[in-house]
Amino acid sequence: MRVKNLIIERGNIMTDITEMLVRRGYLWQSFEIYGGMAGFVDYGPLGNGLRRNLEKLWREFFVISERAVEIDTPTIGIEEIFIASGHVSSFTDVAIECEKCGKIFRADHYIKEKLGIETEETIEFVNEVLSAYDLRCECGGKFKEPENFNLMFSTKIGPGKGKNGYLRPETAQGIFIDFKRLADYFREKLPFGVCQIGRAYRNEISPRQGVIRLREFNQAELEYFVHPGEKRHPEFEKYRDFTITLVDKMDGEHNITLGEAVEKGIIAHELLAYFIARTAEFLLKAGLKKDKLRFRQHKDDERAHYAVDCWDAEAYTSYGWIEVVGIADRGDYDLTRHNQYSKEDLSIFIPYEEPVKVKAKKFIPKMNLIGPKFREKSKAIAEAIEAYNGEVSDGKIILEIEGEKYEIEDTFFEIEEKEEVVYGERVIPHVIEPSFGLDRITYSILEHSFDTDIVDGEERRVLRLKRWMSPVQVAVLPLLSRDPFVSKADEITLKLKKAGFFTEKDDSGSIGRRYRRYDEIGTPFCVTIDHQTFEDSTVTIRDRDSTRQIRVKEGELERVLRELLESERDLMEFGVPFK
Ligand code: AMP
Repeated sequence: MRVKNLIIERGNIMTDITEMLVRRGYLWQSFEIYGGMAGFVDYGPLGNGLRRNLEKLWREFFVISERAVEIDTPTIGIEEIFIASGHVSSFTDVAIECEKCGKIFRADHYIKEKLGIETEETIEFVNEVLSAYDLRCECGGKFKEPENFNLMFSTKIGPGKGKNGYLRPETAQGIFIDFKRLADYFREKLPFGVCQIGRAYRNEISPRQGVIRLREFNQAELEYFVHPGEKRHPEFEKYRDFTITLVDKMDGEHNITLGEAVEKGIIAHELLAYFIARTAEFLLKAGLKKDKLRFRQHKDDERAHYAVDCWDAEAYTSYGWIEVVGIADRGDYDLTRHNQYSKEDLSIFIPYEEPVKVKAKKFIPKMNLIGPKFREKSKAIAEAIEAYNGEVSDGKIILEIEGEKYEIEDTFFEIEEKEEVVYGERVIPHVIEPSFGLDRITYSILEHSFDTDIVDGEERRVLRLKRWMSPVQVAVLPLLSRDPFVSKADEITLKLKKAGFFTEKDDSGSIGRRYRRYDEIGTPFCVTIDHQTFEDSTVTIRDRDSTRQIRVKEGELERVLRELLESERDLMEFGVPFK
């Protein structure tokens, strides 16, 4: 095959990890037999299994244990959605193209790589830097005028001229535009969360970082809708003393509790702190290392203008610190925009605890005077008087009807003062959005788990995945590749598969080689059928990390494996040490 590795930067050096991931079936370059294309990746059998386990864990954390639901909406969206959301006008990166060789780069990345300068993403700023430093292309050529490049893939829906559409650049919009239905589903009671797990598409300018920057990628997003004045979570108390590295917007590093971070105003409110804690807990349970995980606050010029506060979970990898999750308080921006553009009322009615009495003025038009004076306009004037809720000044009120102003003297209406009982108010909820990049998390788990050690005097590669994350949980190995060992292995494999374990049988090569094979892909337990199996109906279970083994009764195997796979308990607690 012509192309074997993932298209990655750093001179296509195939690091140990990417070599293993490709060879063993975790990740493959998409369209490989046609030369591949940067920004796309195939999940092989193991990578797909790992990502599915990650999704399952995510659901446990962010759907099942919250007042939340999951929905599924199309990956293509009509143009109206993305005009309202602001993606059509401003989901852009600045691109620079070389006059000589025609290569195109994302300006901020190129400038950071060549000059170490963090760049504002504006054409003016990029222009200034290009001329101040006489920055050229790698081939020596000059750059053309920088241009804004929209990252959405556009498409046509239907035949002929069709209707403009876009592949969704995030899953979130599908949730916002279903808000009315969702609010109804939750009986208009806040807070509630809605999530979506699925593909998102961004036509990245020059994706050169393997699975870190993809053109088609997997997101898991939760939109948590709250009353604007109640940015709290009932479970926050559990996390008040939780600690994780926080890097604030001035680059100050804090190792304080989340409770303190909220009290000191470093994190805007308890609800964001709660999601930071849950995200950290989730990432650690998925297998990231605590010393390679931090939460970094967006700087003022990095944060979207409508966002109140925003924190990225970052994992340390061979690409440096990479953003794996973004957690933002987006205020009422999204719902307000869709409210405005769709003309559908996306507010919800929030009843007060106690009804409130208010004094209300009612304007009553005097039709007998309005008719003769305003003639064909009299109906519109009368309606505007009824709808008026302002003050009367100098004996007049001012009405605006179809862009025209009318001064109406108080002889044309009466005012009735009365007391009204108000039961609640209509509000547009605010949304807190934890948005997870599943590909980046999957890759970071693989890097953080990849290890080597020495076993029996030989170097061993071992993927120390968390037991519940492993795509192959159990390998069943007959000691010898003949009967009765093989048929017994087949029988046990089938039993374990039926019990729901991801199980493989392997009878090729020496037992030592087979152990190494499963260590390398991260299988936590190997079950071996040996001579003794046929004497006393026992098998051995070998632990990937310690390489120690126990003997257990065949009838106990399922229970023992289940307890081991759901916990981090020591294998030696479960049976008689072997060897
Ligand atoms: P954003 O909407 O840009 O905050 O993205 C949300 C999450 O999606 C990020 O934290 C990343 O983990 C992930 N992500 C964004 N862009 C890409 C990409 N081009 N390739 C892979 N993952 C991405």
